[in-house]
Amino acid sequence: MRARLAQAAALLALAGAALLLTGFLGVPRAGREVDVPLTVEKFAFSPPRVSVEAGDRLTFRIRSLDITHGFAVEGTGVNATILPGREVRVTVPAGQPGKIRYRCSVICGPLHPFMVGEIVVEPNRWPLWGGGLVAVVGFLASAGVARPAGRRDLLRWRPLARLLARRPFQFALIAPNLLVFTLIVLAGLVGTATGALNVSTIFVWLAWWGLLVLVLIPLGGRIWCAMCPIPAPGEWLARGAIVARRERGWGLGRPWPKPLRNLWPAFGGLLVLVLFGLVVTTRPLVTASLLLGLAAVALVTHLVFERRVFCRYLCPVGGLLGVYALVAPIELRARDLEVCRACREKPCFRGGAGYPCPTFQFPGGGLERNTYCLLCTECLKACPRDNVALSVRPFGVDLRVSRGTRADEAWIALLLLGTALAHSVIKLGPWGWIKSWANLDGGVEFLLYAGLFLGAVLGVLPGLHLVTAWLSRLAARAPSARLGRLFVAYAYALIPLSLAAWMAFTLAVVAPNLSYIPRVLSDPLGWGWDLFGTRETTWTWVPLGLLPWAQLGLLVAGLWGSVRAARQIVTDALGESGAGRRGLLPVAGFLALLAWAFLALYLG
Ligand code: SF4
Ligand code: SF4
Repeated sequence: MRARLAQAAALLALAGAALLLTGFLGVPRAGREVDVPLTVEKFAFSPPRVSVEAGDRLTFRIRSLDITHGFAVEGTGVNATILPGREVRVTVPAGQPGKIRYRCSVICGPLHPFMVGEIVVEPNRWPLWGGGLVAVVGFLASAGVARPAGRRDLLRWRPLARLLARRPFQFALIAPNLLVFTLIVLAGLVGTATGALNVSTIFVWLAWWGLLVLVLIPLGGRIWCAMCPIPAPGEWLARGAIVARRERGWGLGRPWPKPLRNLWPAFGGLLVLVLFGLVVTTRPLVTASLLLGLAAVALVTHLVFERRVFCRYLCPVGGLLGVYALVAPIELRARDLEVCRACREKPCFRGGAGYPCPTFQFPGGGLERNTYCLLCTECLKACPRDNVALSVRPFGVDLRVSRGTRADEAWIALLLLGTALAHSVIKLGPWGWIKSWANLDGGVEFLLYAGLFLGAVLGVLPGLHLVTAWLSRLAARAPSARLGRLFVAYAYALIPLSLAAWMAFTLAVVAPNLSYIPRVLSDPLGWGWDLFGTRETTWTWVPLGLLPWAQLGLLVAGLWGSVRAARQIVTDALGESGAGRRGLLPVAGFLALLAWAFLALYLG
């Protein structure tokens, strides 16, 4: 029965993909000349959105109402400078249906990288046909058969095992990052206040964030934590050593207060960070202060408390990484728990040749989830029986939460999903007013924005999630299932889609702005230097025409992972029988709706 269902779903998926393609072919060509008067001022175009038919030719008549701006149309090579008081005419052919973004190409202030407008070329079939594909993929994933998860232990390759067991290796990872961190903080403190011209904002929020979200998290989970420079000075002081293993250092080693042994402090930090996200990511001084503040808190907590409580409980980025690490295709675990049972000293937890686990994890006790493992390899160094494995595994294995769910992790998952949606609206959307509200341009406006933001990410989205859990219980006819439990458990199913949405969002921010990296390398402080002759780079390496396809692919893959996770979670909560299948329907529907909302926002 299930195999037939899967075959039918596969056929439907093929039909959906074919329809999607035919939707882009056979488009009637209008061929009109369209005149568009456009005004530009910090940091918005008016009108922000123009709708035309495929085959039209648009002539923009552009005027700047304040300072000099640019007008560049993504993927076309069109780029003009708009001086105040002078009208500039630019012609843009509307070729393929879909969305084309135009953006300012002359650095004009803090929000310059997010100053965008949109040409929607009709018939834009992305939302409709992409939505069809999303529905089919959601159905296919809910009908598919779960396969047992295979693993491959990378440490069977002895050169890698030997490298990771060497104490200087981690120092070699951290040291260059600490140097870059120091330079970035200095640049933020003394360099230009314009974010797009300062190496601190460009390196942190374009280069590092892009690398983190697009590569490190999806492939390595918390691997960044193994090389993060922020806790390093405090950890070295607390240990009394940089590389070597010492029994006593200078830290007081006090226990962390019991009421704070959870991720709520990290949740609070993350909430503040995303609320002020636009200010933090566009102001070098704020970026530098944030980094310094995190380093100071890490230093103090290392000197006062035991192990790495900063990374375990406090770091907002650690909270984000911990939740997304559940999806990552890599894990560190004990190879054989029988061997661990015979191991009396348990040095992976208590310390031995390596330091005790800095986040109180215990591989020998059956560590099952990635959330708090920093991949620091101390347990690998400590284990005298060569019983620690670093394995490659299928994506999303840890999302099955039958062995324990946590409300703090669930709320971080919801916050991350809501923030992906909200930041996509603020940073990628053409609405200048919301950018200006989020930019702290006025006190009342910012309060309004804060109310909207918090209401959406802490009220509306969790409310919809709660309704989904309630509908799932109703459909399963399982009134005894506790709603609060379902709310928390189902939040884990959101994680793959939320990560995919962050990747699609980050791709759309990073790809068109890559040219800022060679620019700030040549002139890191925005003082007019040109060290490598790349200060005027405007060339973008990425073929932006492929961006919608990449975003669609990411969202579809994320939806697939989420619905597959939901199948297991709902089955664990409501049972394997018809009740589980019925209970899955509202959850899969909600996930498909979320995927479609992102799709409509990016491509509609
Ligand atoms: S030190 Fe090694 S063998 Fe002992 S409990 Fe830890 S992982 Fe198992
Ligand atoms: S489980 Fe091992 S690798 Fe993970 S944080 Fe603890 S000591 Fe480091």
